[in-house]
This record gives sequence, C-alpha cells and structure tokens, in this order.
Amino acid sequence: MSAIDDLPPLRAVIAEHGLSARKSLGQNFLLDLNLTAKIARQAGDLRGSDVLEIGPGPGGLTRGLLAEGARRVLAVEKDSRCIAALEEVARAYPGRLEVMNADALEIDVAARLTPPIRIVANLPYNVGTELLTRWLDPGHWPPFWSSLTLMFQREVAERIVAAPGTKAYGRLAVLAQWRSDARIVMDLPPEAFTPAPKVRSAVVHLVRRETPRYPADARQLQRVVAAAFGQRRKMLRASLKSLSPNIEEVLSSVGIAPTERAEQLDLSQFCALARALETPK
Ligand code: SAM
Repeated sequence: MSAIDDLPPLRAVIAEHGLSARKSLGQNFLLDLNLTAKIARQAGDLRGSDVLEIGPGPGGLTRGLLAEGARRVLAVEKDSRCIAALEEVARAYPGRLEVMNADALEIDVAARLTPPIRIVANLPYNVGTELLTRWLDPGHWPPFWSSLTLMFQREVAERIVAAPGTKAYGRLAVLAQWRSDARIVMDLPPEAFTPAPKVRSAVVHLVRRETPRYPADARQLQRVVAAAFGQRRKMLRASLKSLSPNIEEVLSSVGIAPTERAEQLDLSQFCALARALETPK
C-alpha cells in the first residue's frame, strides 16, 4: 500500500508488469507518490475538472491526479506494456479513469472530455514540445483546454517563460505568453526520476487567457515571429524584409528601430508590428 491510495508501491507495479524503462520512449518514471500528488496539485483544484494525461507510464502521476480529486482522467499511453498496470488503477477508481493505448501525436481526444479540461503530462521533451506547439496553435483558439501543467527539461521550461532580452526568449515564449499566463511552478533534480536523466526538469503551468494580452491577427503574428526569430541575429530590417517591401517604414510607424533584433522586442511590440503589417500599404 502507498501513502496516497490502497494500490501497491510503484516499484512493485514496475516489477510485476516488467516495465523496464525504454530510452526510445523517453521513459524516466516518477516513483514517489507524494511527489506525483504534489505535481498534480500544481494543476489547480482538480475536483470538477476532466484531466487529459499524456504518457502515464506505470501510473504514478495518474494516481496523484485521481487522489487529488480529478473528476475524470483520460490517460493516453503509447507503450502497450503499461496498459495492464493502468487498468488496475482504473479498477481502484471506478468510472474515473479511462486508459487509451495510442500515440498522442496521432489522435485527437478533445471530444471525449467534458470542459473544464486540464492537461497534465510528464513526457519525453521532444513529444512535449511538439504537443505544446499544437495546443498553443493560435489558429485553433479558444483551445479545448483551460490549463496545461507539463514537465519539461529545465532549459525548455525557461524558453516558455522567457523575458525579452534573454537568450531563452524566442517563438515559444511569444506564442505561449500571448494567450496564456505561463510560469514555472516546480523544479526537479535528475534523482527525482528512475532512471535519472542527465538534466534538471521543471513543471510549467499555463493558464489560458480569455483575451489575448494584446490584439493581433494570429496568423500575422505567427509570420512575424517566425521571420524575426528565424534569423534572430540579424537586424529586423533584414529578417523581416520578406514581409513587406517597405519594412523600414512599417517598423518606424510603430516606433521600432529597424536596427533592433528579434530578442529585443516585447510582446506588445510584436503585436503592434503584426497589426501594422495587416494594413495594406
Ligand atoms: N507519467 C509517467 C511518470 O511520470 O512516471 C511516465 C513519464 S515518462 C517521462 C514518459 C511516458 O510517455 C512514458 O510512459 C512513455 O511511454 C510515454 N510516451 C512517449 N511518447 C508518447 C507518445 N507519443 N504518446 C503517448 N505516450 C508517450
């Protein structure tokens, strides 16, 4: 029995189901159920919310989410070896856990959940970044989720919450912060995982904003940000040249010096630029 529920400790679950960690699936498991319950709490008050969990593995975080009162959890796991272990968790929480054996990059599960929906995941970082980019897609706004609570390598977490003028500041920061409030809520050392990864990890919590921080057309903003950071070391008059034949005038019209570089612009300036470019000259 563990501290948070009547199920066996995770080491016993892993031994019973032969869940030796696979590098190819980015498997670094969290085995301390007090820690997984703490991560679950970072997602906010779960009672009254459906939770989409991606990559539950042996179910440590899943158990944390259920013990913390999630109304319902839909857990999507690619590794079929984990499914029997997760079904045991489902039996301990009747009617509250649905397990799907699928690749999260290939399915759309929004319709299976009832809002408010919170997404919580401890994923391999490449899958996590790809999913985050999709969940933040301004072309599909408002999104189906109200908050995202995601484990990343510390370096990726810093890119999401980065401020202008820093090395970590780029497309991810602008897109994440335009329509959501993002902050790092937990820091985890490698030893928190089994096996231990090489780098530190952090949990980022993003809450969807009802209105964007500054008005702008989503596609235009994406174009501007992609062009500006695509050549981040160049001056804006060069990196944004493809967006307008008279880019220097456009920049000046919104008070931005054409000699500035992408990482010096804050969110309000990127949005002002997107609005100025919308108006045909
Ligand atoms: N959540 C568990 C924990 O915290 O102990 C496992 C975390 S482990 C870092 C990542 C999990 O994501 C693994 O169980 C792995 O099999 C799963 N996974 C990897 N790629 C996936 C994908 N594309 N779709 C769904 N699950 C995936």
